[in-house]
Amino acid sequence: MPSRRVGLLGGTFDPPHSAHLVVAVEVREALGLDEVRLVVANDPWQKSALRRVTPAGTRLRLARSAVGDVPGLSVSDVEVRHGGPSYTARTLRSLHRSEPGTEWFLILGADAAARIDTWHDADDLLDLCTLVVVDRPGTPLRLPLPSGSPSPERVAVTPLDISSTDLRRRARTGRSVRFLVPDAVAGMIAAEGLYLRD
Ligand code: ATP
Ligand code: MG
Repeated sequence: MPSRRVGLLGGTFDPPHSAHLVVAVEVREALGLDEVRLVVANDPWQKSALRRVTPAGTRLRLARSAVGDVPGLSVSDVEVRHGGPSYTARTLRSLHRSEPGTEWFLILGADAAARIDTWHDADDLLDLCTLVVVDRPGTPLRLPLPSGSPSPERVAVTPLDISSTDLRRRARTGRSVRFLVPDAVAGMIAAEGLYLRD
């Protein structure tokens, strides 16, 4: 049986937005992946040291409503179930054990790719998955990998200058997030009063 090809888009998703979804859909199409999963970080340790991160359960619900029933997209709670700080290398090792025979593609925006050398067990990642890098408006592409590493896949996606940081600021200052996030996410942000304070 040919192996399943699954893409992972890891993130804080605080909140998930339209650029996350466009990246997931377009990478899936470009590489012919069976599925792309949004992997919600439990404790994004590099961020939680710097700002208040929304509880993982809320971010998981936001991600599930963002994805809805779009074919080929899903949300993974594997890091939330593990608990503690989220390390992508550990997540991939656990996925290799639970889903043997799957080929894993780790999707990174240019800003995340530029910091990959600061990740826990970064060297192991290359043995565990194929890296897929997409451009992000305003971020030059730089991928600090050891020399001799396999070159990552690059996928051209529709450039969208949307960030969760900007969306949190919009919500806090009473500006609209409409169309930058799926309607269901905008509805949850309003109904639950998310992002009203820093
Ligand atoms: P924050 O501003 O809080 O860091 P974010 O918008 O960067 O939020 P993350 O959850 O940090 O969202 O990102 C998850 C993944 O999606 C990362 O690999 C990131 O590079 C990628 N990504 C996020 N926004 C974009 C975008 N507009 N274009 C391309 N990639 C993106
Ligand atoms: Mg980010």
